[in-house]
Amino acid sequence: MTTEIYLDGNATTAVLPAAIGAAIDAMGQRFGNPSSTHATGLQAKAVLDQARACAVRLLGVGDGRMMFNSGATEGIQTSVLSALVAVRERQARGEAIGSLLVYGATEHKAVPESLAHWNRLLGLNLTLHKLPVDADGAHDLALLRQVAGSAALICTMAANNETGVVSDLDGIEAVIRETGTAAYWMVDCVQALGKLALDLAATRIDYAPFSGHKLYAPKGVGMLYVRAGAPFTPLIMGGGQESGQRSGTENMAGIAALGVVLAALERGDTFRGHDELWRFRARLADSLRAALPGVVFNNPFDKALPTTLNFSVPGLSSRELMDVFDAAQVRVSAGSACSSAKAAPSYVLDAMGVPLWRSAGAIRMSFGPLADAELIAAACARIERCGAALRASCLIASDSAAVAHDGLLQLGVEGACCWLVQDAASGACVVIDPLPELTSRIASYVRCQDYRVLAVVGTLPDAARQSLVEALGAHYVAGCVDEFGWPAAAPLAFDVALENGAAARAIGLGAQVLASVAAGAARAYLLGTADGGRLPAASVRFAFSAGAREPVLAAVGGPRTLLCPTRDDQNQFCASMPSHSPATSTAEPQLTMHSDMQLDSADLDAFLSAHPDAVLIDVREAYEFAATAVPGPAGRVAHSVPLSRLAGQASVWLREQQRPLVFFCRSGNRSMKATQCLRRLGHKQAYSLSGGLALAA
Ligand code: PLP
Repeated sequence: MTTEIYLDGNATTAVLPAAIGAAIDAMGQRFGNPSSTHATGLQAKAVLDQARACAVRLLGVGDGRMMFNSGATEGIQTSVLSALVAVRERQARGEAIGSLLVYGATEHKAVPESLAHWNRLLGLNLTLHKLPVDADGAHDLALLRQVAGSAALICTMAANNETGVVSDLDGIEAVIRETGTAAYWMVDCVQALGKLALDLAATRIDYAPFSGHKLYAPKGVGMLYVRAGAPFTPLIMGGGQESGQRSGTENMAGIAALGVVLAALERGDTFRGHDELWRFRARLADSLRAALPGVVFNNPFDKALPTTLNFSVPGLSSRELMDVFDAAQVRVSAGSACSSAKAAPSYVLDAMGVPLWRSAGAIRMSFGPLADAELIAAACARIERCGAALRASCLIASDSAAVAHDGLLQLGVEGACCWLVQDAASGACVVIDPLPELTSRIASYVRCQDYRVLAVVGTLPDAARQSLVEALGAHYVAGCVDEFGWPAAAPLAFDVALENGAAARAIGLGAQVLASVAAGAARAYLLGTADGGRLPAASVRFAFSAGAREPVLAAVGGPRTLLCPTRDDQNQFCASMPSHSPATSTAEPQLTMHSDMQLDSADLDAFLSAHPDAVLIDVREAYEFAATAVPGPAGRVAHSVPLSRLAGQASVWLREQQRPLVFFCRSGNRSMKATQCLRRLGHKQAYSLSGGLALAA
């Protein structure tokens, strides 16, 4: 099996084997409660003390406090609570306090959320003030100078989690000192641990939270540094653990593991140094440049941690990039929060003034200081594989023409959809209802496969087709067209007789014809095989229409005609004609889920043995299929039928003798949609592999 290459270190890391050993020891041999005074307890306490002593030395804690907790989110709460309680006390004593809670625009969400929360709970009514950053992600120190005097608390981060940009902590400290502000200062050190040298007590920093799982310790353990003399209010009260600063019996497995990581950092014999990490990033960047032409890096390498790359690729969404990397078993993350329908732009990149397409399409690739040359070389090979898969799918430009794809392709943007009818044999295609957002994608797709576009038609008159026609240039060969984009002039257009006896204009597309039918004030298009100038209902495979209930369609289409809508908000892909639907006589979405639609991966082998005629179908997009290095589930060969081509293939499956179709994808989501579609269309043996490849592996 191809091993996964984990390049999402800024999200979390694997646990260092020695740290796993220490955690097991803390749960086994040394299971004691460090508060117990018997020998078992004392053994646990020794582990706790050693871990803390190591943190104190390593991070230059000096006379300050270093307490263990559950992670940085807790550390941030404790810092904000401590500072704001002190501010409230000063206010109660009649002392002047600042009115602003200043935080960097690129802080982790835990910071502004905690500020807003505790500000409200403590009834302080201070104003949250976002400190802008420049194009490189650096805090605007001139603005900080202006507001520092009015600040009650200043929150900045040592290094950013999305971009790795390292803050100018010396510069910030200089401003704080120069202005003489009484504001407290919190520095989120989560991404800095193990990557930047820290000497906390030598600075003016009041609070510094850390999280273990960003540096090879487990999740659920972290640390908080509090400067000697900085105010402190416990977040959690109880049995008085951690010198009364953080009650609750300690997470000894986590602390023991973190202690091992800290000891390794202190020894300096486990993690790679800055220069080597810098070279690793340069190699990854080179292979991204070679594989993904036009790639733009969103983080300034010379001002960022050497372990983080943040990039965008023109014409590709973060969803597509994530999917292709995931298929190649390279784990990266979307630089932005990704909702299922549309990637939301990254607020970090937005704050840096990065253009929207880059901010919404960003990918973060990050590794930890345990990375080695072998991992980076393997990652580069996979990146090359992803580039080749995207080139073969015409999603990125290529020097050589791609093999022409054939059949029906559905492309969508937020529920609206557009159809491409491609005939590879004749090199001709037609575009139906192009969407303006897809202009450049369709144009490059057509160019990449060297198609001649016979027509760009709309189901509604005067729809926005012109931009695509222009972008297609010489590939568009329609000549003179009517208000629906239909080519008026012979020889491309001719007449066919429809089932209802009416004559319709048609264009030949290889062995098939596309006929144009008036549907009220709109048009519908029929795709099928004409015979002697006739296009009988039984030969109409697809009807493209804005209205499913268009009466004319019932008169010219047959029971096996698939209706291809111009809107597909619920991923129905296609439907039976309302008058011929096997499930219902309405055109309402039928999203029922029957328990017999799901196949558990544990049952797959037995199912396939019992049904030797079953077909395994990968419904991920073609570039994901191409980037995948592993065989299909259960070690079987799978066919690729991406969801975007499901309607075209569904028509074939429905016309042949039914046999079991087992759909799969990465998670089981897309395959369920395909299964529902086929069942709705009357195929009784469509199944979805639950959990997808992620669980079948
Ligand atoms: N701060 C930064 C910069 C982070 O990257 C993270 C985690 O993503 C956090 C805070 C929160 O850490 P945790 O979820 O471990 O509490």
